[in-house]
This record gives sequence, C-alpha cells and structure tokens, in this order.
Amino acid sequence: MSFNAHILTLYPAMFPGPLSHALAGRALERGDWVLKTHDIRASATDKHASVDDTPSGGGAGMVLRPDVLGWAIDAVEFDGPRLLMSPRGAPLTQSKVRELAEGPGALIVCGRFEGVDQRVIDGRDLEEVSVGDYILAGGEMAAFALLDAVIRLLPGVMGNRTSGDHESFETGLLEHPHYTRPAKWEGRTIPDVLTGGNHAAIERWRQEEALKLTRARRPDLLEREKLDKDVDSD
Ligand code: SAH
Repeated sequence: MSFNAHILTLYPAMFPGPLSHALAGRALERGDWVLKTHDIRASATDKHASVDDTPSGGGAGMVLRPDVLGWAIDAVEFDGPRLLMSPRGAPLTQSKVRELAEGPGALIVCGRFEGVDQRVIDGRDLEEVSVGDYILAGGEMAAFALLDAVIRLLPGVMGNRTSGDHESFETGLLEHPHYTRPAKWEGRTIPDVLTGGNHAAIERWRQEEALKLTRARRPDLLEREKLDKDVDSD
C-alpha cells in the first residue's frame, strides 16, 4: 500500500516541486507514495472566491476562514493523520517522521497569512506540527520538509537499507563525521583508523565521535535519551 499525501494549499502548483526530483521523485514515479493536492480556494463560495478574512479583535494580516477550510478538508477522502503545519505545533522529530512513514499517509494543511481560524483546528482535530522555531511565509515549505523526511523511510525508497541506521537522531546522537577519497585534500588527511581496516576500531571511533559531537552541539539530545531510558526502566 502506498503512502498517500493529501496536501491542502492555496498554491497547488508548488507541488510536487522539489519532491519530483531525486529519491522522492523516483519513488513518486514508482508509486511508493501518491500525491494529491487540493486547492483550498476551490471550496470558496462567494463571488470573489475569498478564503481569508480580517482577524476578530483586530490586528494585522488575514486569517484563513474556518468554513472554507472545513469544506476543503471534508472533501478529501482519507482516513489517517490530519496535520496542520504550524510554528505553534510540536517540533517535528525523527520518531514522528517514522510513525508517519509506517501509516497510511497524511492529510497536510498548509497555512498562509496569519494562520487559520482556531475553530477549524479544534473542529477537525488538526495536529499542529512545526519544522522549527522560525516563521515561514506559508506551510508549503514545511510540508516539503516533512514529506521529504517521510518518503526516504518508505519501504524500497532507500536503495541501501542499512544506510538509515546510523543517521543523526536515529541513534539518539548526531552522526559521526564522514570522509571519502582523495586520501589527502588541501593538506588534510583522513583519520588513520578509517583506512586501517579494523572494523571494531572503526565502529568504536564512530561512536566516540558521535558522542563528542552531540555533547558539544546538542547536549539536550543526551538529556532526552537519558530521560527516555529512565522511563523505560521504571
Ligand atoms: N502568525 C503565525 C505565523 C503564520 S505564518 C504565528 O505567529 O504563529 C503562515 C503559515 O506558515 C502558518 O499558518 C503555517 O502553516 C506556516 N508556517 C510558518 N512557520 C512554520 C513553521 N515553523 N513550521 C510549520 N509551519 C509553519
């Protein structure tokens, strides 16, 4: 069964965009995932096809109307997770990506303007997902990031099945540094251990480097890992 991506957007022509290339593009051609874009504006009913209105209580910008977005969501035939890309959402993690990749797909609402009316978030049980602590102009780029992360995990998409195992976050750590030929570049060499052929030593070196890097750059990941372990052992 393919992963079904239902994208609700005011800019359907943006899709598949970058996802029509490389790994995701080939997977799309093979049918490993199926893309259905739904134009939110097609659900507008007034003569100007308006999808937004001014914020209740005043202030700058516009808000996506709940009636129009609600109809757009209701018109999609899909039974699975319903996401709203949103800077207020839970930060997207590799475990969430993995959970989505194992499911039937996702309905993804791409916000625009100041965002969407709270009643449609509540009334349609939209799960808010953020791609980081910064503000994008719209949810489309966030949806690309989420889909790119999910698609590479779908069965058959990554040629080398083991190449995901060591990846940053999969182990709870950032990944060790990589090297390839030439052996010397601008006076810089490859660490001896990597060319020595001792696989146990290489593995040990990679783990140590991963730990060092994580300690220096993302100590919060180590804390999180420790907390998870504590909970498991309870
Ligand atoms: N006024 C809102 C931001 C709106 S940005 C606020 O301050 O929270 C417009 C749209 O872009 C949002 O509705 C959302 O769909 C998308 N967006 C912006 N930043 C995002 C992020 N970090 N992660 C996911 N979606 C984001």
